Amino acid sequence: MDVRFMEIRSHGRAVACCRRSCGTNPHQPAGASPRPTICTYTGVGVNSNKIIALFSAFLFLIAASCACSRDTATDQPNTQIRYDLLNTVITISIYDDADDKVFGDVFDKIAEIEGAMSVTRPDSEISQAAAMAGKSPVALSDETYFVVKEALDITVKSGGAFNLAIGPLVKLWGINTDSPRVPDRAEIEQIKELIDYNAVTLSDSDKSVYLELAGMSIDLGAIAKGYAGDAAAEIVRSHGIKHAILDLGGNVVAIGGRPDGSDWRIGVRNPIIGESGYIGVLTVKDKAAVTSGVYERYFESGGHYYHHIFDGKTGYPADAGLLSVTIVSDSSTEADMLSTVAFLLGVGDGIVFLNDYENAEAIFITDDLEIFLTPGIKDSFTITDDRFSLAT
Ligand code: ADP
Ligand code: MG
Repeated sequence: MDVRFMEIRSHGRAVACCRRSCGTNPHQPAGASPRPTICTYTGVGVNSNKIIALFSAFLFLIAASCACSRDTATDQPNTQIRYDLLNTVITISIYDDADDKVFGDVFDKIAEIEGAMSVTRPDSEISQAAAMAGKSPVALSDETYFVVKEALDITVKSGGAFNLAIGPLVKLWGINTDSPRVPDRAEIEQIKELIDYNAVTLSDSDKSVYLELAGMSIDLGAIAKGYAGDAAAEIVRSHGIKHAILDLGGNVVAIGGRPDGSDWRIGVRNPIIGESGYIGVLTVKDKAAVTSGVYERYFESGGHYYHHIFDGKTGYPADAGLLSVTIVSDSSTEADMLSTVAFLLGVGDGIVFLNDYENAEAIFITDDLEIFLTPGIKDSFTITDDRFSLAT
C-alpha cells in the first residue's frame, strides 16, 4: 500500500507525519494560530518500517507496539497525531475508535500548560515570577501552583539534588539554547547564590510564589512534561478511550494495555551518546514510564560531553555514574521528578530515595553499561542489547 508522508503544522513548526487521510482540525477557530491537523489511518497494511524510522528519530522511549512487535494489524493505532509543544515532539496514538475532538482537547491542554509553565516564553507565569524576583510575590494559577509546590517538595526531600530554583544555572550554560557553552568557574560560583531554593517562598493562601533575590528563576523542565502527560491522559480517558500511548518526548503514558489485552511493549532508549534505538523492552499496562538521560540534550566542547541535568552543588552537569534512569509509576508527574532525582543521586542513594515511593520502579543504566533494577520491575524488563548486562 502506498504510504504518503506529509508534514503537519502545529504551533508554528513542521512535524513529520505519516498518514492515509488528513484534514484540518475542525476545532480551529477562524484566524487562530496554526492548530494540529488530524491525521487518521486504518492501520491495515501500513508500512510499519517507515513509521519506525520516524519514531526512532524523535522518541527516546519507543512504543514497542510499533518498534518491536509488528506482527498484527492491531499493532497499528487507529488514529495518531503529533504536536510540537513543550520543546519536544508529542505523539498521541489511540487504538480505539475516537472522536477527533480528543486531539483538539489534548492540544489545548498541553498548550495551556506550556503557556503557563515555560521558562522560555516571556509571558508565562514562571517568567513573571522571575521578572518579579526580589520585588514581590506573583499569584499563580491552581495548576502552576500545584506543580511548583510538587517541585519544591521534592527539592527539599532530595536535599536540593532536584532543585526547582536551578534556572539561573541552566541559563548560564545555555543548554536549552542553540549556543550552549562551558562557563568560567567564577561565573558558576557567582550564580550559586541565585539557585538557593531556601529563597523560594510559597503561600498556600493566595497560591503565590516569591523569589527573594533579583535574578532568581524557577525551572520546571524536569516536571512539566510529566504533569502534561497526566493531564493529557485524563482527557484521553474522559473520552472513553481504553487503549492509547501518549509519548511526550520520551515521557510515555500507557493507557490500558494493547487492544488484544496484552501489555504494551515499550523500548527503553539506548542511552549511549551518538547511538540510537533501544536496549531493552519494558512491558506495562496503565503506567507512566519516564527517562532522564545524558543523551537527551547535550553539547560537546574540548572533547567532553556536557548534558542538561545539573548538580547545583558543583554547578556542572551531574556525574553520578549514570547514562540514564527510567522510572515506571502510576503518575507521570511523579515519574518525571523521580527520574531526574535518581539520575542526580546515582544508583545507591537513588534506590534508597525511591524506597519511599512504593508505586515507583526504576531502571538505572550506568556508564559502564550495567543495569540495576528495583525488585518490582524485574519481571517486566528484558535486555535486548547484549553489550548491556544486569548487575548481580
Ligand atoms: P528531560 O527534560 O530531558 O526529559 P529531565 O526530566 O531530567 O529531562 O529534566 C531536565 C531539565 O530539568 C533540564 O533541561 C533543566 O531544565 C532542568 N534541570 C536541570 N538540572 C536540574 C536539577 N538539578 N533539578 C531540577 N531541574 C533541573
Ligand atoms: Mg524529569
